[in-house]
Parts: sequence; structure tokens; C-alpha cells
Amino acid sequence: MICVFCKKDPLGVIVPVPKLDGNGQDMSCIPCAVEQGLGCAQHQEAHRWFATRKGGHACKSCIQDMVLENIAREREIFVQIISSLSPNETTRITEWLCETTGGRDETRVLDALCMEAMTQGRTLQEVLEEVLTTQSADLIVPLAY
Ligand SMILES: [Zn+2]
Ligand SMILES: [Zn+2]
Repeated sequence: MICVFCKKDPLGVIVPVPKLDGNGQDMSCIPCAVEQGLGCAQHQEAHRWFATRKGGHACKSCIQDMVLENIAREREIFVQIISSLSPNETTRITEWLCETTGGRDETRVLDALCMEAMTQGRTLQEVLEEVLTTQSADLIVPLAY
């Protein structure tokens, strides 16, 4: 298989990378993926697109690392959000949590915040502050909620 960037058939791994226009995937070697900003040098893996509101790609392992680094604060962050937002907005969050599955509620909210942070090149604190300032669940819940 040939890397779309260096046009070589390297001995290393060829991985699917997100196309820059957001439509579909290209096949790339890891060094090219990293060079194009579509791969992670630290984890040696390609970015993935995430269905956040603004869209964007990030390294899945980097998101997981950010979640793990902040896991001790997940309850505090969850309570802070739920107690600050209006009933309408907290209902959007609780409906999403009730209708879908995948781990503790607190972890899923932290995960959503970290996903937003990594895909937008921001810190967790910046995203959390935006949620609290805008009083909106938009950065946490998927588009359907
Ligand atoms: Zn390449
Ligand atoms: Zn990474």
C-alpha cells in the first residue's frame, strides 16, 4: 500500500488518516501523518475525526491521557457543570447520558470535554470555562441532543 503523501510503500505501518476536507480517509505512513498534523508523534498513531459540534481530529490516546490526568476531578467537574447550568441545559446532558451507554456519567462528561479540548487545541480548563460562561451543554452533548 502506498502513502498518499510521500508516495512510497514504506516498510512501516500505513494507517488511514482523515482527509483534510473532512470527507473520508487517505492512507499514510506514520511519519507523514505526523508531519501533516494528522498523526501523533508521541503515540505514533494517526488522528481520528470526532463528531464534536465544531468537528476536528485528534489523537485518541492523547484524549485518553487527558481524561486519565483529570480523572480525580471528574466528580467535581460534573457537579460544577450540573449545578451551574439551567434546568433545560442539564436535561440535555442527562437525556444524552440516559439514552446512551458507556461508563460512568462523570467520566463521559469529562471525556466529552477532553475530546472538545484536543480537537480544538485547547486546554480542559478553557473548555470547562466556556461551558460555564456560555451556560450551554453544546460542548458536551452530541448534535442530536
Ligand atoms: Zn509517507
Ligand atoms: Zn497522542
